[in-house]
Amino acid sequence: MTKTSRALHMDTLSLRGEQVPLVVRHNPRARRFIVRVDMTTGAVHVTTPNKRNVKAAISFAHSHADWLIEQRQHVALAEPFCDGARIPVRGTPHLIRHVESQRCAVRRVSQGDCDVPELHVGGDITFLPRRVTDWLKQQAKADLNQSVLTHAAALNVRPSRITVRDQSSRWGSCSSTRALSFSWRLIFAPTDVLDYVAAHEVAHLVHMNHGAQFWRTVEKLVPTYPQAMRWLETEGPALHKYGVVPLSLD
Ligand SMILES: [Zn+2]
Repeated sequence: MTKTSRALHMDTLSLRGEQVPLVVRHNPRARRFIVRVDMTTGAVHVTTPNKRNVKAAISFAHSHADWLIEQRQHVALAEPFCDGARIPVRGTPHLIRHVESQRCAVRRVSQGDCDVPELHVGGDITFLPRRVTDWLKQQAKADLNQSVLTHAAALNVRPSRITVRDQSSRWGSCSSTRALSFSWRLIFAPTDVLDYVAAHEVAHLVHMNHGAQFWRTVEKLVPTYPQAMRWLETEGPALHKYGVVPLSLD
């Protein structure tokens, strides 16, 4: 999912009476119009190879209305980080609370009268989304480092580096230079799911393919891995909705 090209035009598209944000982008490398639904925000994106045919791009989107309506049924509605929002952390729901007087950025509170653990976020409320994101990324990095090092020690291998970043296409990857990279959004998933993704990438340090030996290695590291795989398949897409600000047209 690339968000590098600037919007050429923003509009709304009427889909069965609902006004849906429409974004037209220009990409000189596109060969034709491309229409898609942003699975996080539900907005319709049209890419055009030519800056001058915005109108044609919009009518192209219109002509795909039925398909767009169908696609939009799969959208996980965005849940921004804000005071009162509930987000999963390591698979357990947490309530975000703004505590202006608190000095530290984010503190996890689980004792006392809370029905669910809470994330207390200090400082100006404007910075709350950024503070929650930074904290979650740190937690993801700590958990992934721990899992990777444990599995790497079991296989007697070493990654060249471990990176945790915002990647929407894959949960993890292993490069030919033995660098492992992961999505920070794994912190929303249950711990065994994050651990499976770590084990999967570590196993690629031994087998750079998805052959039978590779899966035997994964199984040795995480015997219950098929469950984690199934969880990612069914629940994984929804992890992209957290902390995303819905697209507005102001
Ligand atoms: Zn793989």
